[in-house]
Amino acid sequence: MKSGNLGYPRIGRNREWKKALEAFWSGKLGEEEFHAELKAIRLGNLKTQQERGIDLIPVGDFTYYDQVLDTSTMFGLVPSRFQYDGGVPTLELYYALARGNKEATACEMTKWFNTNYHYIVPELGGIEPKLTINRPLAAYREAKAELGINARPVLLGLYTFLKLSKGYGQEELESWIGKLLPLYKQILSELVEEGVQWVQIDEPILATTLGDRDLELIAALYEELTSAVPGINIQLQTYFEAVDYYEAVTALPVQGIGLDFVHDGGRNLASVIKHGFPSDKVLGAGLIDGRGIWRADLGEKLELLGKLAGIVSPDRIIVQPSSSLLHVPVSAAGEYGLDSVLREALAFAEEKLNEIAILAKGGRAGAEAVAAEVAASKASREALNQSPSRARTEVHRRIADLASQPSARPSYTAVRREAQRKRWNLPLLPTTTIGSFPQTPEVRSARQKWRKGEWSNEQYEGFVNEQIQTWIGIQEELGLDVLVHGEFERNDMVEFFGEKLDGFAFTSGGWVQSYGSRCVKPPIIFGDVELPAPMTVTETVYAQSLTKLPVKGMLTGPITILNWSFVRDDKPREEVAYQIALALREEVEALEAAGIGMIQVDEPAMREGLPLKREYWAHYLEWTVKAFRLSTSTVKDETQIHTHMCYSEFHDIIESISALDADVISIETSRSHGELVGSFEEFTYDKEIGLGVYDIHSPRVPSVGEMTSMIDRALRVLPPELFWINPDCGLKTRKQEETVAALRIMVEATVKAREKY
Ligand code: GLN
Ligand code: ZN
Repeated sequence: MKSGNLGYPRIGRNREWKKALEAFWSGKLGEEEFHAELKAIRLGNLKTQQERGIDLIPVGDFTYYDQVLDTSTMFGLVPSRFQYDGGVPTLELYYALARGNKEATACEMTKWFNTNYHYIVPELGGIEPKLTINRPLAAYREAKAELGINARPVLLGLYTFLKLSKGYGQEELESWIGKLLPLYKQILSELVEEGVQWVQIDEPILATTLGDRDLELIAALYEELTSAVPGINIQLQTYFEAVDYYEAVTALPVQGIGLDFVHDGGRNLASVIKHGFPSDKVLGAGLIDGRGIWRADLGEKLELLGKLAGIVSPDRIIVQPSSSLLHVPVSAAGEYGLDSVLREALAFAEEKLNEIAILAKGGRAGAEAVAAEVAASKASREALNQSPSRARTEVHRRIADLASQPSARPSYTAVRREAQRKRWNLPLLPTTTIGSFPQTPEVRSARQKWRKGEWSNEQYEGFVNEQIQTWIGIQEELGLDVLVHGEFERNDMVEFFGEKLDGFAFTSGGWVQSYGSRCVKPPIIFGDVELPAPMTVTETVYAQSLTKLPVKGMLTGPITILNWSFVRDDKPREEVAYQIALALREEVEALEAAGIGMIQVDEPAMREGLPLKREYWAHYLEWTVKAFRLSTSTVKDETQIHTHMCYSEFHDIIESISALDADVISIETSRSHGELVGSFEEFTYDKEIGLGVYDIHSPRVPSVGEMTSMIDRALRVLPPELFWINPDCGLKTRKQEETVAALRIMVEATVKAREKY
């Protein structure tokens, strides 16, 4: 029985990776030094895995930005707007695809399955793919030469890659398989020549809903791949949910199958028990949670492993995480700021490597060989369960009494709209922003000083108020209609709230990559959630005191707080969501009582929590909509509830989004180049809506013409009297000049549109 890993966080223990990328982008780090820094991080990661006793170490999972972008650039799939000459893509081109440049807009970015990791969507279009560079081979050679590791290269599987790509029609799917297959063959042949025995091919698409035709195509493609490159052993890796086509998948002509035994709802195990497992294949047993941060109960895991070993020959089992460890922070070793009971119950990537090694050892030598580790893991979990933070009686009482909590606004949308129109009398096509304004180095350093105690509360609050004042002035001068306070007091839209709510804890270094160099530090929801005091009233009321125009209050919604946190695993997520919702309801009520008449409750993460398989969607949507409504339903008719979402695949959950019953919704649109608008051709959305008219992820300031065409496209489908004009998302990552310039153009485009409609 061996231990294996599927992927490792690339960001480094102290986010060295992020810092290097940003230094390179800003010109502070030369290309050569940049390569050297990234190499040091990459090798350091491999060494850690080696030292912690992992037998099968992945290579090729490390990236300069995103592993999907690595795959598309490896195949020379560069959209024509980037003037690509066909050679090995340069770093400049690579980053232009991800971030845009002066001439071309960036490629679309979207969430990786049901995670908060974002990948760059490959655009296939009319391009002929070719192998520009064999990345897995380069990674393999490096690990061998530098550290003597005989690593297992990772590739993104062909079928998943195609399914995540855009720019081709369904009828071209087969021809695209035909175009890419030779490239996969070439990669694998070159690996075999180099002496590689095993590769890991990730096909997480196998955990989603697939049709018979998909399964046929997948079977045919792996048939062709393995017969063309007979020397290679493929571990076909699935993760994030169960494989419901178990028999078809285990019959594929590959040498190993990796299954997730953590996020499978017990279904993968049930399939193995029911159908057995092919005796000529290796089972990658995903036992350690690659997505969560809790220490495993190793006794339970050993039991599960024992069940598997009763069916699969133990020498054909690899103990591994349920998915790449990309989704968890690097190390819990330095978390001395946490309560020791909590700290002892945590396992980040490094600690998970230990758990994997312990389980593999227990699998080989018997449970007695690891008895001490098993007992320690159980004790740590029990201590947390017993802690007072999980025994807040008032929270338990309210949850038990959920049926009597209001979960719908008392009046219909149209009635509320009347009341709200009367109250504000906004112009046609009102303009607003999504909440945050630039978090400049000045803003961040002020927060640091305050956190370190160098600044008093008064000093920091004074600074935040100055920022608010400046930006209320800027917004008025720009001519925006609905203002925001700018979120200067917030580091992150979830962390900020978590810090003020009971039941949350914060690590000092628990970062995970969200997209590109952007990392987030998800809070840990370890106890029952309660609101001890209002969280946002002071700043919002201050902002409102400076202007006659309406200022929107700004909260993060219950589902987003849940989905962007690491959540306790002793209760259903649904129940934790209701706890958060009830706490947020108190905040909404406090804002309303303080005279704030528009309150935005952001739910950018609602969609990403959707189960991968459609049959489980309805249940998830039901409880998430209920949680949102629990937090927003007690306000008066004339109080306008806004919400915001950062994605554009909207059509398939539009009914649930409508069911949130927010008076106004703003949605990211521009990066998917208007595709979203099509959703409204089929579904009549009867609430107010703002489709983002420019991309805030890029430093590029768009032209009036570009924004006008976004507005025109939307207004071909949506009634102008329901339409708002706003950027795609918050502006915290942008510079002040860019922000002001872009908003000025947005207002200009709005003025033009008002003349027209
Ligand atoms: N109000 C938040 C902001 O503007 C929304 C961010 C988001 O949707 N991710 O920053
Ligand atoms: Zn957003």
